[in-house]
Amino acid sequence: MNFKNKVVLVTGSSRGIGRSIAVRFAKEGANVVINYRSNEKEANVITEIISSYGNDCMCYKADVSSEDDVKNMIDAIIKKYGRIDILVNNAGIAIDNDFQDRGVNDWKETLNTNLIGVFLVSKYAGKYMLEKKYGKIINISSTNGIDTIYPYSIDYDASKAGLINMTKNLAIEYAPFINVNAVAPGWVDTGMNDDLSKSYLDSEKEKILLKRFADAEEIADVVLFLASDKARYIDGETIRVDGGLKLG
Ligand code: NAD
Repeated sequence: MNFKNKVVLVTGSSRGIGRSIAVRFAKEGANVVINYRSNEKEANVITEIISSYGNDCMCYKADVSSEDDVKNMIDAIIKKYGRIDILVNNAGIAIDNDFQDRGVNDWKETLNTNLIGVFLVSKYAGKYMLEKKYGKIINISSTNGIDTIYPYSIDYDASKAGLINMTKNLAIEYAPFINVNAVAPGWVDTGMNDDLSKSYLDSEKEKILLKRFADAEEIADVVLFLASDKARYIDGETIRVDGGLKLG
């Protein structure tokens, strides 16, 4: 796959799945924008790594749930590159605690990032994609938004289900110029699951046909496919990448 000179924004890309996606695009020749919310050190490290491949790389601090931050980030990208070709809405949070301990603020925080954040970045970046009559938007949802439901992550699961719905609405809104699709990973080996106990994670692994969590690279592979010309006739779709979790 060749993404030479494409401008790619990956939200929440200082670590985890977003970082792998950003690195893969850079290796395929893209100019990548690293977005981070707070971890400047990690963001700078990944920006330096990507710059060493010889591509232009921009690093921008923005909370995707803040409309001002998002507007400023998109303006800065347009000022520098004049366009955004590919947007990966990867930034997401999961606050795990018991159902009865969960409060309204947990819900608000989760929905603000996982849903409203995607809306804001897709709205402001989409405007420029429409101008160029070209764009690919890939949203990172989760199997939690489809059928692997856990009451201790009730707000996360609802947000990821909402994101699958939003993917279809964005595909309709931006047709025929922008393909909008989603990837629904099952368990992925990243820092997002660091707070969960080993015994719990081991029991979850047993439910997966492949008996292991995905590596972030395996999610990046599917994202790059969806952003490529090979996926040009896929629109409004959600692709599960879960190692057979549903069947295990
Ligand atoms: P992660 O916690 O390692 O990375 C998430 C990144 O998003 C972090 O860099 C974080 O700082 C950033 N972020 C969070 N809120 C933000 C905000 N408001 N503005 C900007 N950046 C923000 O987790 P990950 O596993 O790499 O998750 C990436 C995506 O994949 C998330 O949307 C997550 O829900 C989804 N996902 C993860 C798994 C998994 O098992 N790890 C499974 C399915 C889906």
